[in-house]
Amino acid sequence: MINQKEVIKILKESGALLEGHFLLSSGRHAESYIQCAQVLQYPWYTKELAEGIADIWLEYQPEVVVGPAMGGVVLAYAVGQAIKRPAIFSERKDGKMKFRRGFKLEKGQRVLVVEDVVTTGGSVKELLRIIEAEEAEIIGISSIVDRSNGKVEFKYPFQPLLRLDVPSYDETDCPICEKDKTKPIKPGSRK
Ligand SMILES: [Zn+2]
Repeated sequence: MINQKEVIKILKESGALLEGHFLLSSGRHAESYIQCAQVLQYPWYTKELAEGIADIWLEYQPEVVVGPAMGGVVLAYAVGQAIKRPAIFSERKDGKMKFRRGFKLEKGQRVLVVEDVVTTGGSVKELLRIIEAEEAEIIGISSIVDRSNGKVEFKYPFQPLLRLDVPSYDETDCPICEKDKTKPIKPGSRK
């Protein structure tokens, strides 16, 4: 079973987890930044993470893996590969989460829900509602990262591979400004 240290290593090596001095879109400063999509561009890393998720849930016998677009599409596919079960995804159409493209669930089918990163849990909750509407059975939820700072609550078991608390600071009270005398950079921008 993959441990938190190995997950952090993969996220750093793939550039999904950056360390330094960052200016967040909220205007606050932080010393780490996560862009989970970065790791999903590497199938070999994605495979390792997906196998970690598979290890958690295999004993609960999921029959299908479901992820919300976009973040959940690649991960659901990789987890489906790891457990040798089908993987489908939901997506927003006119702002509403739906199954499209002929994807559907059977009544009572055992569903594992996956998402790359859970922040507010909004997309996952919308997905849970449409799965419930199909009367499938939700066995649980996994993500690579839970960065909700312990705030997110689902009514089904939730097991992320990594819980990552990212403290952020007001610019007037930022210890990294104080210590390093550097200017924060906007993640994703080039020098
Ligand atoms: Zn700062």
